[in-house]
Amino acid sequence: MEPRRADGGPLIAQVRNHIADRWCDADSGRTQENRNPADLTEVVSHSAESGATDVQAAVEAARSGSAAWQALGPVRRGEIVMRAARLVGERRQEFAETITREQGKLLREALGEVDRTVALLEYTAGEGRRLGGATLPADDPRTVALTRRDPIGVVGLITPWNFPLAIPAWKVAPALLSGCPAILKPSPLTPQTAALLVECFVAAGAVGGVLNLVHGGREVGEALVKDPAVAGISFTGSVEVGRAIHTAGAPRFLRTQLEMGGKNAALVLADADLDQAADAIVSGAFGQAGQRCSATSRVVVDRTVHDALVSRLTERAAALRVGGGMDPEARLGPVVSAERLQACLAGVRQATAEGAVVATGGQRLTDGLPEGYFMAPTVLDGVRSDSHIAQEEIFGPVLSVIECDGLDDGLRIVNSVRYGMAAAIFTRDTSLALAALDRVEAGMLHVNRPGVGAYPHMPHVGVKESQYGPAECSLQVWDFYTQWRTACISY
Ligand code: NAD
Repeated sequence: MEPRRADGGPLIAQVRNHIADRWCDADSGRTQENRNPADLTEVVSHSAESGATDVQAAVEAARSGSAAWQALGPVRRGEIVMRAARLVGERRQEFAETITREQGKLLREALGEVDRTVALLEYTAGEGRRLGGATLPADDPRTVALTRRDPIGVVGLITPWNFPLAIPAWKVAPALLSGCPAILKPSPLTPQTAALLVECFVAAGAVGGVLNLVHGGREVGEALVKDPAVAGISFTGSVEVGRAIHTAGAPRFLRTQLEMGGKNAALVLADADLDQAADAIVSGAFGQAGQRCSATSRVVVDRTVHDALVSRLTERAAALRVGGGMDPEARLGPVVSAERLQACLAGVRQATAEGAVVATGGQRLTDGLPEGYFMAPTVLDGVRSDSHIAQEEIFGPVLSVIECDGLDDGLRIVNSVRYGMAAAIFTRDTSLALAALDRVEAGMLHVNRPGVGAYPHMPHVGVKESQYGPAECSLQVWDFYTQWRTACISY
């Protein structure tokens, strides 16, 4: 990647592919322009628009680097991941500003993403000294029976735009550490952040063709999924694309790890501390402009406290200052693209047609703002649990409020969607909270706190259509990148 300064204009990065240890243009020579979602007059980057031949070259490079990378062993590979962690940390501000300019999130949210990424990389690096199997008793005398984890081979890593650093990092690090050469295909909306991450890994020692970066859209993803030399695909994105990947790979038993969407609920019971609940829900719903797979997008509230909660939510949401990510006063940034903005507006239109009432927001904001994709923080009241907005991911700053009658009815509504990523429960009664935890159909549960947030050593996991295959982060991730083998050694 060679940044250059246009005449008097902002820094425009030329974001290139990285194949076989070289930064290069797409075979076709085509590029895609990316603009700042908070200011559409600002061109942020031109990135390679790659196709199937670029993927072929990257897979070939990964294959040829495989043996030497495996021979290095997990301890040395862990040291490389640790060096990458340090390099990312040293470039914290540059990473955060890049994320904010190309994705739109607030600078402080972007700084948080960088810090979380460093923690993830450090955690993963440490596993280089622990990755292994077990020694087991054998039936035969003078025999050692053991299990071992071996890398599955070349992997394709397909990522979305909403965590343009953390998600690529939490795939690249375990792939490389376990011995799998990788091809990263980031979202075409956030190519520059991915390129900076690859720069750090390369500088840390991930060389010999083991880390490749191919920019582009669906065509690149499909070529990776189709390539018989790719042993596994780790994907984060929408359910629809996840299903397409799984279906395309099934005939050749392609191993997949699919982290998909959510329609996450906060269940507020009658005895909840409503101020605490409202603060947590507003943070979970409007942080990162609602563009998190775990973002709270439904509030299921006991009828007896409905009015008191909605007035708190509405007041807090309406008070959020909307602005560009570099504005230190802003509390809600833009959504990432015109498509996202249209999806939010269409969702609100359909919801009101189905009987919902706009308590606050509901429209695009332009007054006093640069030309960008700014959506007003939106609370919809009187939402029916079977309506489109209550069932489908909107992925923006739009929160739906649904009434319920007590715990059982609340849980029925919470569980009435095809997704199962995250959920939050608000109550002062621990036994109610534990009873609810038993029955909530979601992978990541929170009580009396925002329904978002994760730790590197905890599985990032959903149930139902939110997830397929081993979880990411934590020790579970090795079940994707490695395969078990056994050995019996007589002496
Ligand atoms: P998306 O599904 O549109 O795209 C994700 C990636 O897949 C992109 O790199 C895209 O170019 C690529 N792609 C598109 N079509 C493809 C195909 N046919 N074959 C292979 N690759 C293809 O998702 P998005 O809009 O980038 O991200 C938003 C989605 O990601 C939301 O649904 C959100 O919930 C989900 N998400 C999930 C998690 C999680 O951990 N579960 C985390 C973040 C985001």
